[in-house]
Amino acid sequence: MEMVTLFRENSAFFLTVVGFFSLLVGSFLNAAIYRIPIMLQREWREECEELIGGEEVDEIEHPSGKKFNLFIPRSQCPTCGHMITALENIPVISYLFLGGKCSSCKTKISIQYPIIELFTALLSVFIAWKLGVTWQTLAALFFTWTLITLSLIDAKTMLLPDNLTLPLMWIGIAVNYQGLFVDLQSSVLGAMIGYMSLWSLFHVFKLITGKDGMGYGDFKILAAIGAWGGWQILPFTIFAASLLGAVIGILWMIIQKQKESQPIPFGPWLALAGFIGFLWRTEITQAMANYFMLG
Ligand SMILES: [Zn+2]
Repeated sequence: MEMVTLFRENSAFFLTVVGFFSLLVGSFLNAAIYRIPIMLQREWREECEELIGGEEVDEIEHPSGKKFNLFIPRSQCPTCGHMITALENIPVISYLFLGGKCSSCKTKISIQYPIIELFTALLSVFIAWKLGVTWQTLAALFFTWTLITLSLIDAKTMLLPDNLTLPLMWIGIAVNYQGLFVDLQSSVLGAMIGYMSLWSLFHVFKLITGKDGMGYGDFKILAAIGAWGGWQILPFTIFAASLLGAVIGILWMIIQKQKESQPIPFGPWLALAGFIGFLWRTEITQAMANYFMLG
């Protein structure tokens, strides 16, 4: 508890600690964003093989590769297989020192890595500054880090893995059990309405156009957002996410000069709008109430 007192007395120290720690978290998120889709694909392939072949497939002895999870094997250069040393793994700094290249084969390292690390750190410091030395900060950081991971996985692979969206929803209900952010009723309703609103939209859209406008992962991420911020933030979240998705989707089509519309992931926009709705839920709920009372 002495650490908490120290943090409370010196907010600059608190924010600095959060900043450095979040850089490391950002580095871990990079690994998760890269590895989780690969882990899922392996799982699916193994399940298919089990179904078709009926043979037991051992994870470790699987012919298609060695054990692979969030921590094993250690990170290596995808081009030359050079093992990333601890010194080369310092967030942002290593990237700058290496000039954005692999130390062994000089292949370019994606700028995505340091950007995600910096982005995670800046957002985390902002949350810590806004919410102070509280349990709310700790929970909100977890919420934010998971949303960052989900957004980037969706942007890259069009997947929103169940093993991230579902725990995020349950944890949202758990932290609100005693009303950390919103009361339990708002949280449970948020999860229910979040899922069902997009589920209904999806089916109406499909009935009219015959197309899939979204995926089931989108319903689940909105359920999670509702569980964390309460049902009250859902109208704002859906509205802002649709607006962002539409505007950026159209801009993207113009830039790419595409004739046919390519599917664009909706998850990142839901995550961004949901994050804003969550952090400013009091103001947004108030504004909505005013609007409907006066309007
Ligand atoms: Zn290399």
